[in-house]
Amino acid sequence: MFLNSLSSAISFVPAAGRLRCRPPAIRAMDAAQPFDMEAQASDLMDRRVRLKIAIIGFGNFGQFLAQTFARQGHTLLAHSRTDHSAAAASLGASFFSDPNDLCEQHPDVVLLSSSILSTATVLRALPIQRLRRNTLFTEVLSVKEFPKNLLLKHLPPYFDILCTHPMFGPESGKDGWDGLPLVYEKVRIGDYGDRAERCKRFLDIFEREGCRMVEMSCAEHDACAAETQFLTHTVGRLLSMLDLKSTQIDTKGYEALLKLVQNTGSDSFELYNGLFMYNKNSTELLERLDMAFDSLKKDLFGKLHDVLRKQLFEDSSEN
Ligand code: NAP
Repeated sequence: MFLNSLSSAISFVPAAGRLRCRPPAIRAMDAAQPFDMEAQASDLMDRRVRLKIAIIGFGNFGQFLAQTFARQGHTLLAHSRTDHSAAAASLGASFFSDPNDLCEQHPDVVLLSSSILSTATVLRALPIQRLRRNTLFTEVLSVKEFPKNLLLKHLPPYFDILCTHPMFGPESGKDGWDGLPLVYEKVRIGDYGDRAERCKRFLDIFEREGCRMVEMSCAEHDACAAETQFLTHTVGRLLSMLDLKSTQIDTKGYEALLKLVQNTGSDSFELYNGLFMYNKNSTELLERLDMAFDSLKKDLFGKLHDVLRKQLFEDSSEN
């Protein structure tokens, strides 16, 4: 492109009086050059900013993330147990049934979005020896200590590791990610080459969407998440068993409950089970919830019992 502009600029130079005619020719070059340089620079920038991201586990959440990654112009590869090639094609992603083929594409980033329960098996089945030694591994599991330990144990030291948890899903993030939290821990990012920059570029995807970026250790995340996420899912699931319906006199509080059922209802039981099985804090939370419910019932039935007993004694004294 730069050469084309140069030759078209030269073609305006008359054969005679070349010296005198040079200024306008140079002006033409000057006019074309910034445009060309800008195009080249923006191309280079694009190449620097754009990532080749391989999503492993292209289910509900993997596809949800892919929509935003694709909109931001990243190159997407996908692999899953099930054939999601039609969904991948609709998002502009290339689907690979065979993980060998995907790894040979040498993605910059490998993102695990498989169910919590299957992630160890999924990771072990990945032919990581076919990846570039300089690859960033990340994951979006809803529990954090488990994948951190798994990746540290399974991956050779030359792979970078970034643990993340977008604290939203296809339902709560359907109208955009603005203000929604993205928790992350840079577990192992090499300090040579462009490794830190590549990690930043990946995190920038969320920052550009307006996510609230929260850097936090995986252990701290799990302690908080049992109280926030597991509790939310548990209450949502309990309420969904009551088959609640909207009425003409819904209060704001009741509307919030219906919304909670809707928000948590589209997530798989496998995900919920993973929140319980792979977060050691969840068992304690479930026990506390059980005790709180029992104590609430005791208060109510205790008061009812007092009233009934009083009535019983009043009735008997009247007789
Ligand atoms: P999920 O039920 O937790 O995971 C579904 C994915 O796991 C699918 O891609 C599925 O493969 C794969 N999978 C399940 N069992 C498998 C097995 N035995 N072998 C290989 N692959 C298996 O539902 P999800 O909502 O898509 O969540 C994916 C991940 O994102 C989870 O780790 C979850 O904790 C995390 N996350 C979810 C949300 C959310 O709101 N949904 C939010 C933040 C983080 P197929 O493609 O073959 O079905």
